[in-house]
Amino acid sequence: MSQAIMIVEDEPELAALVADYARAAGYTPQVFGDGREALAAIRANPPALVVLDLMLPSLDGLSLCRALRETSELPVIMVTARVEEIDRLLGLEAGADDYLCKPFSPRELMARIKAILRRAGAAPSAPVLAIDDTARLARVHGQPLDLTPSEFAILAALARRPGQVFSRAQLLDAAHADSLEATDRAIDSHIKNLRRKIDAAAPCLEPIRSIYGLGYRFDL
Ligand code: CA
Repeated sequence: MSQAIMIVEDEPELAALVADYARAAGYTPQVFGDGREALAAIRANPPALVVLDLMLPSLDGLSLCRALRETSELPVIMVTARVEEIDRLLGLEAGADDYLCKPFSPRELMARIKAILRRAGAAPSAPVLAIDDTARLARVHGQPLDLTPSEFAILAALARRPGQVFSRAQLLDAAHADSLEATDRAIDSHIKNLRRKIDAAAPCLEPIRSIYGLGYRFDL
């Protein structure tokens, strides 16, 4: 029997688009445009997973997620129109399993749904970003990033010490860059490429922050 995915979204066109993708991916979509009605429906007949918009009529996504968490471990992917909201939501510990910002690619959403349903249960969850020093491989949501050796070295150095500000000189050292070619601008260009590649694998993650006048910092 196909798993039910509840889509709680008050924009009918977006809800219909997500429902189409869910159906194509082999799930049974149910769409609700109203928070309170959705909560009642989830309690009456829990789906396998809920895709939850933040801004909703009658009961917002955050309150809905919290109400749900009082009694249920049901996987929730929260969707918000603002990137900055994700930080706030993480701080509020609404209890969602994943967050996506609008506009999102429906294909990315399906990949997240699949990943969450696969690990639902006993399996430990795949880390958002994992660095494998032996294989010199970085993975985002379990998906390997195609990085150059310098990009990998820079990302590994930053990720090993989250919250610490690295100067461009320190990152040049980490990258073992050829001293003749090594310039601050080269680091900036590596960082730009890293951000592009990470963003392609996980939009809105943005783990590498620029610290004005100092360098870069890894925050996840
Ligand atoms: Ca909305």
